[in-house]
Amino acid sequence: MAADRSAPGAPATATGTAAVIDGRAVGARVRERVRAGVAALRAGHGVEPGLATILVGEDPASELYVRRKREACAEAGITSFHEPLDAATPASELAALIDRLNTDPAVHGILLQLPLPDGLAPGAITARIAPAKDVDGLHPVNAGLLAHGSPDAVVPCTPAGVMELLRSAGAELAGARAVVIGRSTLVGRPLASLLLGADATVTHCHSRTRDLAAVCGEAEVIVAAAGVPRLVTADMVAEGAIVIDVGTNRTDEGLVGDVDFEAVSRVAGAISPVPGGVGPMTIAMLLDNTLRAARRTAPSAAAP
Ligand code: NAD
Repeated sequence: MAADRSAPGAPATATGTAAVIDGRAVGARVRERVRAGVAALRAGHGVEPGLATILVGEDPASELYVRRKREACAEAGITSFHEPLDAATPASELAALIDRLNTDPAVHGILLQLPLPDGLAPGAITARIAPAKDVDGLHPVNAGLLAHGSPDAVVPCTPAGVMELLRSAGAELAGARAVVIGRSTLVGRPLASLLLGADATVTHCHSRTRDLAAVCGEAEVIVAAAGVPRLVTADMVAEGAIVIDVGTNRTDEGLVGDVDFEAVSRVAGAISPVPGGVGPMTIAMLLDNTLRAARRTAPSAAAP
């Protein structure tokens, strides 16, 4: 199943033989769709979508991520409420803040920036967030709903962004052989559920998989989320396959993905680059999840 490079609206531009899936363009379209949805929700239902961001400590990378998320909210018309906490904040205080935000009607989504400082257990704290406001989709209730194939699940942002990229590339997923590399709760597992939900035939690979190359060689869709620089090489990819690279690995050569982009581009039908592929989708899907959460508070506005 090669990508349809002539599909209307396809964001791809050719380099080598593969079409390049442009995450910046797809992400911009999602953000524009959210902006319109926010305006319609405000005008039609009087609901002002709001996102609370919690940042514990002063990690510079985390500060940057939160700032970007808040800027993206502002552009989309979503109100953001920032809650910076000292690195030494006890778990009880963080829990009390989450309890307050859970019941605040102006807050439709709660984003707890990870990682947390040592001493704060992310699992227990994430599970304190009300599932309906869990716009990162990390609460076990949302993971369970997704595993059950429920449309009520809040889907984690990065896997949701991968699905948008696949749609933008014209991937026909029903019946397609799809390989997911990586089984984290943040990316790999929810992605496998989403691909199953789209009727793909999913093979889930991980660090103990034998002969990854042979498994990938059978695939029409490959999503690499292992965190291993250039793990996927050209000899592992069938001609015309669609390859999505989630990996973001900081190396001496700069930021590289899990896919050997140059070589795989000569074999694949379509490929997402790093940077400029999955990365821009994650914030876009956070905005989308926040809008969806706000819509659910105005039932007559709830969209499918
Ligand atoms: P993780 O470390 O939690 O999980 C990695 C997974 O890859 C594990 O399940 C492991 O079994 C598997 N794996 C490791 N080595 C392997 C190998 N040699 N062969 C096959 N499988 C192997 O990582 P994660 O949080 O899922 O993130 C994966 C990558 O995606 C990282 O590079 C991360 O930075 C990136 N990421 C990017 C975004 C984004 O917005 N672009 C978001 C989240 C994660």
